[in-house]
Amino acid sequence: MTIENKKLLLKTFVLMVGVYIAVLLSAYSMFKSYALEENEAKLQDLIMHNKALHTYVEEQLKPVIYALKDAGNIDKDFFDPKLLSFTYMSRNIMQEYNKQRAANKIEEIRYKFASNNPRNPLNQANEHELQILKEFNAKETDRHHEHMIIDTNEYIFYAMPVATNVESCMQCHSKPEKAPKSLVTDYGDKAGFYEKVGDIRAFVSVTMPLEVELRKMQRMFTLFASIVLILLLIVFAVIFYFIRQIDNKDAKLFEQANKDALTKIYNRHVFNEDIENMNNQRKSIGQYLIMIDIDHFKTVNDTYGHSAGDKVLMELSDIISKSIREHDRFYRIGGEEFAILSLQSTVEDAIEFAERLRKEVKASHFEKIGALTISIGIAQLRTNDTGSKLFDRADMALYNAKEAGRDRVNVLLDA
Ligand code: GH3
Ligand code: MG
Ligand code: MG
Repeated sequence: MTIENKKLLLKTFVLMVGVYIAVLLSAYSMFKSYALEENEAKLQDLIMHNKALHTYVEEQLKPVIYALKDAGNIDKDFFDPKLLSFTYMSRNIMQEYNKQRAANKIEEIRYKFASNNPRNPLNQANEHELQILKEFNAKETDRHHEHMIIDTNEYIFYAMPVATNVESCMQCHSKPEKAPKSLVTDYGDKAGFYEKVGDIRAFVSVTMPLEVELRKMQRMFTLFASIVLILLLIVFAVIFYFIRQIDNKDAKLFEQANKDALTKIYNRHVFNEDIENMNNQRKSIGQYLIMIDIDHFKTVNDTYGHSAGDKVLMELSDIISKSIREHDRFYRIGGEEFAILSLQSTVEDAIEFAERLRKEVKASHFEKIGALTISIGIAQLRTNDTGSKLFDRADMALYNAKEAGRDRVNVLLDA
């Protein structure tokens, strides 16, 4: 794969990771606010139940008890919170409710009455609650909402005033003399008395665990994250597939344009370009053109056939490809003519390199035909050289090697 395409893939990958994180973050906050809304709805439901209970006690239960008292069926000093205290009833119903929750392994809902003048010490407001009660009485707000974290567990803390003191409350909450005697006997003549109509005596607070909603949300979020991940992986796989297809096509086109079909080394077209550009990219050390021609190749073709000859061309290309260095460029420039553009420190190094190639080829065994030799001509790039001048000199050196009897290296020294 080309570096550009690899970079493109990497960019796509980074972009997708970015998109994934952004989607997850926004989805998380969406799911979380959904969980909070769910919890809030449950909480409001609970509050409505309690309000209904309060109304029932004040408007239906108490009038019956008072009527029975008036009729003398119940002693007029009778007081039992089980029948006459909404807070007592509500607290006990919640206790039963929490027992049910515990049996179903659901965390309890903390439900509390908080008052600055409670009859039952259980309902004494703490500092935080007194502050809230003050806010309610100052009419600054009519509800208090808090998202709390206690021991890594999350809760919604919600507080709202119990209905403002009304006349029906006053029998038990104004002066002790007006209250049933048993009430004073049980709770004393101070706690819960001297209240005024219109005041907010207490508030009810609910500390609702978010656990169930958060667990549900976590499950939904995990599912969502997995689906998005799978979708993104599919999208990435499709992009990867198409880039690979394009890359393969590009590579094929590059091969077709620049490589020799038989030997898979650079072709004449690339060779011509390279020798024309040699002067533009002059290196600090010498550049040499090494031309190679197989000796008596015609005989090989004539004796063993053209396809055996082709095989020899491939085998020879392999041998030479393995012997050149990373920066050397190897070309097939004609039928059985090859060229190498090589960086060498001195002409002696260039000759040594060419000699090594010649000996390696000579020592090799070629399928069917056995041994063969090559002749090599070398020319060095000069200042202000042109590609064709360099080529002509190397060709001349090669011609001289042939003339001198083949299987040898010839250098055209500077004239
Ligand atoms: P020498 O170079 O030693 O003077 O002798 P030679 O027999 O190699 O002579 P020459 O270079 O003139 O011959 C080149 C031969 O290479 C001619 C042709 O049959 C053969 N040839 C050229 N291209 C191909 C090719 O693609 N495949 C095969 N099998 N043979 C080719
Ligand atoms: Mg030839
Ligand atoms: Mg030849």
